[in-house]
Amino acid sequence: MILIVDDTTEHIFSLQQLLASKGFKVDTALSGEEALKKTLTNNYALIILDVQMPGMDGFEVASHLADCNKTKNIPIIFLSADHRDKRFITHSYFSGGIDYVTKPINEDLLLLKVKTFYRMYEQTLALNETQQNLRAEIESRKTAQLLLLEKADHLRLILESLPQIAFTVNQNGKIDFVNDNWFLFAASKNDFPACHPDDPLIDQVLRAHILEKSAIKMEVRIKPLNAELYRYHLLRMVPIIEKDEITHWVGTFTDIDDQKQIEQKKDEFLSIASHELKTPLTSMRGYVQLLKRSLHDSPNTVAHKYVDRVQTQLDKLSALIADLLDISKIDHGKLKISHRPFDLDHLIDTVIETIDHTHERKALKIERVGQRLHTLIMGDEMRIEQVLVNFMTNALKYGPDSDRIIIHTEIDDQEVKVSVQDFGIGIPVQNQAPIFDKFYRVEETSVRFQGLGLGLYICAEIIQQHKGQYGMKSQLGEGTTFYFTLPLN
Ligand code: ADP
Repeated sequence: MILIVDDTTEHIFSLQQLLASKGFKVDTALSGEEALKKTLTNNYALIILDVQMPGMDGFEVASHLADCNKTKNIPIIFLSADHRDKRFITHSYFSGGIDYVTKPINEDLLLLKVKTFYRMYEQTLALNETQQNLRAEIESRKTAQLLLLEKADHLRLILESLPQIAFTVNQNGKIDFVNDNWFLFAASKNDFPACHPDDPLIDQVLRAHILEKSAIKMEVRIKPLNAELYRYHLLRMVPIIEKDEITHWVGTFTDIDDQKQIEQKKDEFLSIASHELKTPLTSMRGYVQLLKRSLHDSPNTVAHKYVDRVQTQLDKLSALIADLLDISKIDHGKLKISHRPFDLDHLIDTVIETIDHTHERKALKIERVGQRLHTLIMGDEMRIEQVLVNFMTNALKYGPDSDRIIIHTEIDDQEVKVSVQDFGIGIPVQNQAPIFDKFYRVEETSVRFQGLGLGLYICAEIIQQHKGQYGMKSQLGEGTTFYFTLPLN
């Protein structure tokens, strides 16, 4: 808004008309005193100030304006009757923009000056705003930086107090912080502790994971400085990702050597025990067979019934021992898979038929749906049979009240997928991730159903060795589908 200050109403009126016709907003004051009052409450972009006024003249008004912070930068155009006034104008008022127009007023000249000052005013406003935004931006960045530093300090404090070896790595894979425990295993802060020669190099693993942006979880053997023996450690490195970019990694080495030793001893014990049990069990099964044959002539006797029961229990026992022996083979890398062509379709039909004949649930229907393969595939027929039997016996075992199992087969260019769907108890979501782990059983149902938690672990190993995939989907109370795939080439 522009303020016109003049003691003559006609002058004010004509100026007001002129400026309003060009789209300017205008305010007026008939004396210096009134003008000063108005400048305190309103914001003006420009003041057009008559020099000669009764009472307070234009120069006096200007000098008051110059003394006040709020008004000192408002540009002024003096309206002067005399050229000589120019001297006073420049003397008395320096702060804001300043100019003058002599009377009688040349309207074009005045308009030109008004426009110039007005543009200057607008630019100053815009500049002030930009400056203010810039200041706010700087402030917010400073606060963010401070917050980040605080967070980093907090993180370091936590890492310092951990009993593990803890460290952080920047986005380029360079170690930038290590806690004191680091120096029990590494001579320098810049390099990872040296690993056992058979273990992968941590640097290389990290490079691969930086590209994948995925966490690292691996067992490595590292040696305390000056010690002879390596100790197993679990190395975990988690990327901290912000706006889809890794900012850094937080890592720990946890000593799991004692746990590893106990596990090894347990595995050894299981391996020895199952081997030792196998021989007497085989001969017991042989004698039971003989006994059965000798009772052949009297099939309905009580003795015959008892021998049948003994045989069922011995079969269960030998299945358990077979599982334990498989585990021992897997642990020692000795689970050998043969690769010969076999007819998967036929195998599926045979397994369905066998299970159909052996279970005792009259209402149970095993259905087969999906595509047929019509070609042979490469693999270990007996081991794939083991997987199928395992999935199906589990479907029976964990669906005691359901009367339906469906075997699906799907085929594409790359692979064949076999799924076993049951309508049994299902598996709670929180128990699904470790379901293929060694000795894992769902605790809530483990009392109700017998088992060791080895079957699925062995299945997973067999499928892995065939370069296939495996998995499951389940809904608690609705049922479960276990599947595996086998590559066609
Ligand atoms: P086991 O049956 O001897 O316990 P498995 O390795 O075959 O061992 O299975 C591991 C666990 O997975 C089982 O204890 C059970 O809790 C769960 N499970 C396996 N199959 C099913 C299924 N079809 N429905 C529900 N739970 C299942």
